[in-house]
Formats: sequence, structure tokens, C-alpha cells
Amino acid sequence: MPVVNRIADFAEDMTAWRRWLHRNPELGFDLRKTAAFVAQKLRDFGVDELHQGIAQTGMVAIINGQSSGPTIGLRADMDALPIHEETGVDHASETPGAMHACGHDGHTTMLLGAARYLAETRRFNGRVALIFQPAEENGGGGQVMVDEGIMDRFDISQVFGIHNAPELPEGTIHTNAGAVMAAVDEFRVTVNGVGGHAAYPQDCVDPIPALVAMVQGFDTIVAHNNRPVDDLVVKVTQIHTGTANNVTPPDAWFSGTVRTFDPAVQEMVIARMNALVSGTAAAFGVRADLAYENGYPATINTAEATAFALDVARDVVGPDRVDGAMVRMMGAEDFSYMLNARPGCYLFLGQGGTAFCHHPAYDFNDAVAPIGASFFARLVERALPVR
Ligand SMILES: [Zn+2]
Ligand SMILES: [Zn+2]
Repeated sequence: MPVVNRIADFAEDMTAWRRWLHRNPELGFDLRKTAAFVAQKLRDFGVDELHQGIAQTGMVAIINGQSSGPTIGLRADMDALPIHEETGVDHASETPGAMHACGHDGHTTMLLGAARYLAETRRFNGRVALIFQPAEENGGGGQVMVDEGIMDRFDISQVFGIHNAPELPEGTIHTNAGAVMAAVDEFRVTVNGVGGHAAYPQDCVDPIPALVAMVQGFDTIVAHNNRPVDDLVVKVTQIHTGTANNVTPPDAWFSGTVRTFDPAVQEMVIARMNALVSGTAAAFGVRADLAYENGYPATINTAEATAFALDVARDVVGPDRVDGAMVRMMGAEDFSYMLNARPGCYLFLGQGGTAFCHHPAYDFNDAVAPIGASFFARLVERALPVR
């Protein structure tokens, strides 16, 4: 059973919505135009309830089926990235320095497509909660929506979401039962010495050699402290210090990212960082401080919901185009907060060889939008069948 015919019929409308969203990217929680566009479409489709202003510009729309039953949550993210677009397409961003480089315009469109179909046909019992969230890229809009109580308020029993995947073949669907995306943490180390004239090192305490030793120390954590079969990234990505060639700077800092799946690995990393920072600071006579911030947790699919979602995916795209054992990713995703609150599954929809997400040449592939919308629609019809 391929893409839902009724959804294929309005594929051109979906492309038009997606391109409007692409031309009008907005960042973080400040998605006023985007939210107004989505809300208007949902009203036009005839959803039964529309609850706006959740996590500022997020919203939940409810579509009632033919009789009472459980509520399935379907989620799309709506925010763009602070990247200057270089696609050269007709529907390119009209806002300099902002672009939909992660395909959230496509995710929003797929969920709108499912909303239109489900509101029109209603071949299900129970309810659908359509969750449109802000600030996935930065700010944890998904966490804010959970904290504001959407799961209990709308009595959501399970949650499902889709991310596009440029590196996977067009129209294929991939996931696995268990962890699919990593936990992402950030660290920043500040090193304080004594600045002064560079020609008088005896009167200064240079923070730079201490910083360099700490960076090299951090680079040993993956190779020397981590069990090789445990996934781990420890990456210094910024170093900042100095203002002139003849001045020893008084301070310096470096920062970066840590990706893990296992809280025990996370604890090991923090312990090693603390030991390296304090030991190196003592050796070089500087003061140093580690600030370690836990970010999005790992995205973990529940087994039963994943088996069901994969079965629906096989219905929509065919068994040979579904991969239920994908290799988990070191990227992160704030849908993790929704999956920590309710059972469910996060899936990846292949785009077929476009530029990678977060690249200025990236553009969502409109051809896969009806597939994503059909997946959501079938999932509801099969999870909440009309008797
Ligand atoms: Zn992204
Ligand atoms: Zn994304």
C-alpha cells in the first residue's frame, strides 16, 4: 500500500506550503509568522481544537475520530537556523542570515498534510494531537512543551515524529528500537593567569600553555578512558585568547561538545575533565574552572511502538525500503524529552543525496513530503482502527 491517494492528490499544495515556510524562516521560540501560517491552515482543515501559545509559539491541534479512544501525538518542529542560504533556488530564504537548513519546513508540511487528510476523512477512533513545536535547534522547545504539561493536558498516550535524512535513499524509512540519537552536553573551561608584557614572562602567568595541555588532555579521554564499545564524542571546538602579539593575555577559554548514550560514560567524562583541569592548573600555577552543562538527553525509542511504526512504514513505502536496524547517530534531538514522557518512536525519512542538514546548500526534498504525511495518517488509522 503506497502513499495515500488523497494525500498524493494535494501534493502540489504541500509543496507550496513548504516553499512558503522555506522563504520565511524564523529562529528559536520567535516563530510568529510561521505559527500564524500553521494555525490558519489547521483552522482551514477543520481541526476540532487549536491550542496556541504553548512554549510561546508552539501549538497543539486536536482532531477527533469517530468515537472515543486513546490520543496519539504526532510532532513536527518548525524552527530554522542562523545560516545564510546558498541554494540559489526560487524559494530561497527572504531573511538574510536565517534559513531552513534542517528541513523543519518539510516536517511542518508533512504534519499539515496528515492533518488535512485526517480532518477530512476521520477513519479512526480516539483522537490525534498534532504537536507543532518551536526551538528544536536551540532552546529545547520540546522540553518546554512537555514542562508546560501537554502530555497530561491532552491525554497523549504515545508520540511519533520524523526527521528527514539527506544521506539516505529517497523515500526510505529508517529507525531502531532503543537509542537512535545521542545525549548532547557542552563544556567550557576558563583559565585565569596573570597578563603583562610578553617580553617579561617572569612577571606573568601565561594561561596559554595550561590551556593547550588541557585541550590535549581532553583529547585523550576517548582513546584512553572510554570502553571502546561505548559510543563517545569529546570534541574541543573553540579556543579564545589574546589581543596582541606583544601581550601575555590574563585569561583564556576553550569549549566544546560531548555526545554519549550511557549516563555512566557521561559521569566518567566529567570526572576526567575535572581531574585534567585541576591537575593541569596546579602544575602551571593558573586558576581554572570547568562549566559542564547537560543538554538534550538521548533519544530512545520504545520497542513496542517502534515495531508498530516500522510495520506502518512497510505498508507505506514497501518492506524493501524500510530499515529497522539503523546505526544510531551521534547527533541530538529534543524530541527526546517527549519520548522520556511517553512511549513512541522517532524515524528518519530518506531524502536522496541532497546537501547535508545545517549546510547552506541544503533544501528539503518536496517529493518525500507526501510519504511522511501518509506515514502519519496510516499510523493513526492503524493504531486507532474503526471497529
Ligand atoms: Zn538541525
Ligand atoms: Zn532538525
